[in-house]
Order: sequence, then C-alpha cells, then structure tokens
Amino acid sequence: MHRRSKQKEAILRILRETTSHPTADWIYEQVRKEIPTVSLGTVYRNLKTMKEQGVILEMEFSGNLSRFDGNSDNHHHFRCDNCGRVFDIDEPVDNELDERVATSTGFLVSYHRLEFRGLCIDCQH
Ligand SMILES: [Zn+2]
Ligand SMILES: [Zn+2]
Repeated sequence: MHRRSKQKEAILRILRETTSHPTADWIYEQVRKEIPTVSLGTVYRNLKTMKEQGVILEMEFSGNLSRFDGNSDNHHHFRCDNCGRVFDIDEPVDNELDERVATSTGFLVSYHRLEFRGLCIDCQH
C-alpha cells in the first residue's frame, strides 16, 4: 500500500477508535507507535485534508488547542470545566432550529453547534 494512504488510514482508525476528541499531538503520538517515521507535519496535513473532505470534524474551542472528532455527523458535546475532557452527547440534533433561525434572520444556515458545559461524573466526586 502507498505510504501516504497508510498514514491516512492509521490516523482515521485511531480517531474512530477513541471517543476522547484528541488533539493533533495526541494523534501523532499514537500514529508514531505504528509508523515511527511519521512526522507531526504529515499528521497535521492529513487531518486538514480529512477535515476539508468532511471525513472528520475539527472542534474549535476558544483559547484551547484544536481537537478532532472521528464522527463527522453533526452531534452535540459536553465539555468538562474541570478536566477539559469532551464527551459526545446522545441527543438528536434539532434541524428545525436551523430553519427557525433561517426564517427569522434571512441567513443561510448550514448547521449549529451545541456545547454543554459543567462537570463530568469523575469531577463531581
Ligand atoms: Zn471532568
Ligand atoms: Zn464528538
């Protein structure tokens, strides 16, 4: 198999096997265990390409490192204010909200992002 696609496959598999919404640095450490010659730049480039292709999501949080999500379907997140971990929330996405906002503003709405904040179960103890 071609080297480039092997790296891309490893990145995608690692992302899909975790629910931790990791940073590029974390992904790089994991890929390096399988492909010791891989560079951080290659990992960044592959992540960028996959993001542009809609295969993965990049989650932008203000003041934080970008985190990546192997699940590219629109879904909601919970971020813990104490440990910073990000969890997927299994609630349906309300597409009617997009329509309501589009109707009331005249804007062309592509999607909305919802992030819940608070304390995860571990941090409540
Ligand atoms: Zn927590
Ligand atoms: Zn997610």
